[in-house]
Amino acid sequence: MHLDDPLEERFRLQESQKKALKRLNLLTIEDLLYHFPTRYENIEDIKNINDLELGDTAIVYGKVRNLKTKKSFKSRTPISEGFVDDRTGSIKIIWFHQPYIAKMLKDGASVKLSAKVSGSEGSLYLANPEVERLDDLPIDSHNSIFGENQKGVFYPIYPESKGITSKWFYHAIAKVFQEGAIDEIVDPVPEEILKKYNLPKLSTALVWIHTPQSGKDSLSARKRFSFNEVFYIQLAKQKEKTENLEREALRVEVNKKEIDSFVKRFPFKPTKAQNAAIKNIVEDFKKPHPMSRLLEGDVGSGKTAVAATTVYAVTTSTPPGRTSGRPQTAYMVPTEILAKQQFESFIEFFKHMPINIGLITSSGCRKFPSKIDPEKSTDISRSQLLKWVANGEIPILVGTHSLIQKSVNFENLAYVIIDEQHRFGTIQRQKLVRKDSFVPHLLSMTATPIPRTLALTIYGDLDLTLLDEMPAGRKPIITKIIPPDKRETAYEKIRDELGAGRQAYVICPRIDEPDPKKLLALNVKSVKEEAKRLKEDVFPEYEIEILHSKLRPAEKESVMNDFASGKINILVATSVVEVGVNVPNATVIVLEGAERFGLAQLHQLRGRVLRSNHQAHCFVFTDSKTKTSMSRLKALEKAKNGFELAEFDLELRGSGELYGRKQWGLTDIGMEAIKNVKMVEAARNEAEKLIKENPELAKNKVLRECVEKKSEGLHFE
Ligand code: ADP
Ligand code: MG
Repeated sequence: MHLDDPLEERFRLQESQKKALKRLNLLTIEDLLYHFPTRYENIEDIKNINDLELGDTAIVYGKVRNLKTKKSFKSRTPISEGFVDDRTGSIKIIWFHQPYIAKMLKDGASVKLSAKVSGSEGSLYLANPEVERLDDLPIDSHNSIFGENQKGVFYPIYPESKGITSKWFYHAIAKVFQEGAIDEIVDPVPEEILKKYNLPKLSTALVWIHTPQSGKDSLSARKRFSFNEVFYIQLAKQKEKTENLEREALRVEVNKKEIDSFVKRFPFKPTKAQNAAIKNIVEDFKKPHPMSRLLEGDVGSGKTAVAATTVYAVTTSTPPGRTSGRPQTAYMVPTEILAKQQFESFIEFFKHMPINIGLITSSGCRKFPSKIDPEKSTDISRSQLLKWVANGEIPILVGTHSLIQKSVNFENLAYVIIDEQHRFGTIQRQKLVRKDSFVPHLLSMTATPIPRTLALTIYGDLDLTLLDEMPAGRKPIITKIIPPDKRETAYEKIRDELGAGRQAYVICPRIDEPDPKKLLALNVKSVKEEAKRLKEDVFPEYEIEILHSKLRPAEKESVMNDFASGKINILVATSVVEVGVNVPNATVIVLEGAERFGLAQLHQLRGRVLRSNHQAHCFVFTDSKTKTSMSRLKALEKAKNGFELAEFDLELRGSGELYGRKQWGLTDIGMEAIKNVKMVEAARNEAEKLIKENPELAKNKVLRECVEKKSEGLHFE
């Protein structure tokens, strides 16, 4: 048996099993070996119903019968109840608040239940058991599920798919081990590194993760695999970084005096952090290789002013080998609303000088200044804009994804800024940067506060500048969780703010009302209904408008303009306003159905009202009472800034769904490494060292393949 043998050749598989393996993306023996258990069950927890005792936490295999739903007499709580039988006996099962369970399970269905044994001696029941439907029951009694009764043995529980069970995986992997396929495995990580950090060899780790003899084994194996993951990422990132040093950038001549006078025109005094960031970036411009820098600053820390100043430095320098003309800047943002807004703020920053600024989005193009009114911008055709970009007449181009279309060609692209960069994929970023023969400087900006370990990992190729200071005079936002019965008090406060001339956002999780006929229709507020309700019942005296992604671009624009100019008092919106939107007079934000948003998203949203020196308020409306969602929302209430919140979130969530797997392309096991500062630092140091001291080894085929596989999967969304 070899690692790259197709599973279909090595195992006798039924059609349904073949399909299941495909669904799980498992094709070869090697894939199978890397399909890791998510947890282990101790055989001692699996019980015969006859042996259950009050207070046990037990796993029971059996068939359900007599399931029905009713309402409890006193509290009217919906209850599903019935019985589960195994070979040895039968016990009552009760689910509170889960009326649909009775409908989901048919009489006679085979299930695995885990629960605490509750009730009293003589009338025991399983309360709210976790239920797993099985295609069939394991052979007869629990003792023979995997073999003879072995004390203290851990049974791996794998991610399953219809047609294929943990039991199948267990036996399949045992066979792979028996037939020696793992003897072929070459460990790509140098032995010294393994020794230094006390990590098992790859083949040992594989045995330990599938068939641990103790909890220690499986932990040690997981540690090895999580090290692997960050190590490979680091290798890819460090490689990228070294390659960047070999590229050639356009030199930007920097005139410090001019920069100072540009900054002097701001309507505010820049913070120390802003000045330092400008200096950082401008220093990078002087180097022969392109800058690759991440500017990370909490919402409202003033990233735009930093960007504008550095754009000024680029724009006012002369392209190399020429006596006139301006090097160009592309400024990319994730949404149209934001593109429009940043275009306007660039006009503010640059209107004192003779300079053309362009805007490109999928719904149209614009140019500043207009021929007729030099104070204003004007709509122009796409082809006209593209012509002026291509011949260099437009040195600053702001836009959405439209910026990276093939048809957009720059005469002299020297600087690329990606605002809210976490919303873009790496590919998009590369498209913009790799377009021309020389490589433009790159500034990525983000407010997504991520834990330091994660930043070190996924941004390993970028230099980091932190804007860790808020503009002077900003008051910390007051965040309050509001249960349903306290709504009125929150509305009172909002009324005060509106009365004082301020404005408010109300954020709802959805646009329309859900279809009430759909089962389990989510009972969450919608923009349309909530706006109507607020106008009719709560704030009839105020102007209320809605904003969401399904409006036409022109409608969105006019709503945003009216909100910015104060014509609208309350903007009821979906999370479309999440990134970047800047209306300093808005000081209150209501987050409806807050438990439905991620923590980082909630923080971004409340950042909308942290843009002036007025006291800002954030009301977190929720009717959820579950422990997890309450502790998350409490973290939002408590955390002083996004970074604190990110660290908290990492701690709180098992494998950090929010900052994890889905968002960054890390596996669950990789996320375990992210929780471990020492491991991330070790992986980074070792990768750096390997690339520097032993470039040949770093090019080793197996290692290279691992690294490539890893960096393909990574993304930034
Ligand atoms: P973000 O970092 O979230 O992109 P912005 O650049 O949009 O923040 O800035 C938020 C608001 O703060 C804007 O209205 C901007 O004009 C203002 N601002 C930026 N820097 C300062 C400063 N140093 N002092 C006072 N206000 C500032
Ligand atoms: Mg911004």
